Amino acid sequence: MSAVTQLGYLGLGVRDLGEWRNYAETTLGLQALDGDKGAMLLRMDDNHHRFALHEDTRDDILYSGWQVDTPAALEAIGTRLEAAGVTVTRGSTADLEQRHVRGLIRFEDPDGHQLEVFHGPELAASPMPTVKDGTSFVAGDQGLGHFVLATSDLARTMDFYTNFLGMKVSDFVFQGRLRLGFLHCNPRHHSIAFVEYPGAPKRANHFMLQLDNIDAVGRTWDSVQEGAAPVIVTLGRHSNDEMVSFYMRNPSGFGVEYGWGAREIDDSCWQVTEYNVGSWWGHKPARRPAAAPA
Ligand code: FE
Repeated sequence: MSAVTQLGYLGLGVRDLGEWRNYAETTLGLQALDGDKGAMLLRMDDNHHRFALHEDTRDDILYSGWQVDTPAALEAIGTRLEAAGVTVTRGSTADLEQRHVRGLIRFEDPDGHQLEVFHGPELAASPMPTVKDGTSFVAGDQGLGHFVLATSDLARTMDFYTNFLGMKVSDFVFQGRLRLGFLHCNPRHHSIAFVEYPGAPKRANHFMLQLDNIDAVGRTWDSVQEGAAPVIVTLGRHSNDEMVSFYMRNPSGFGVEYGWGAREIDDSCWQVTEYNVGSWWGHKPARRPAAAPA
């Protein structure tokens, strides 16, 4: 079955591009470039870009781009969707130029999240400058990282991504009323996950960037505690992907997970597990400053 091979890009609709540029470059260590129609592009590795930020009042993730290896795989996924009654649009020449890819189809998941499957991403003309004292992002063939969306029906959404995009289930976290499902398409433990949250005010819960050095995460944790961005949860280690990370609030109000040390999946021996905790330690909600005495 034709399957996507990596999370290639994310499109964000953000209210304040200027604030995002400063946050992305200074706190996250991404490289900002100017895109078409006022968009700001963010680069992290040898791909031309990995994020496209559009001025938009939604302050949310607007679309995700999933790579396939060949035009034939793109066609096979499009045909499978259409056979199931999903509306599929082929990318115009202008779409391909804007996304910097050679071929593209577009459709929606059951919650209305816009998905794009593409082949032939453009690579950058020059090597990526090092970020954060010579450390690099873990990206390349593993894609840009992962992101988490709210869904109204976890089982239906997991089925859609496995049946049509060829993704595989990594595991689940069921902690109290919290229900999360994780999916992979390469050795990265998950490229997308879903939290069951009908009527969520935003689709985006967070996106994750992985560094190849714990010190880059630790130094960024220091700068965030000193005020670079609001902390959502403290440093901790997740149960399922074993990543050491913390979460901060980005200028659009949803989360960015910044981490190191995730384990990878080998499909030849992977077994799906249900965890009843999301973290082995840490990841505690940020303490709010105490109210001033009256
Ligand atoms: Fe995460």
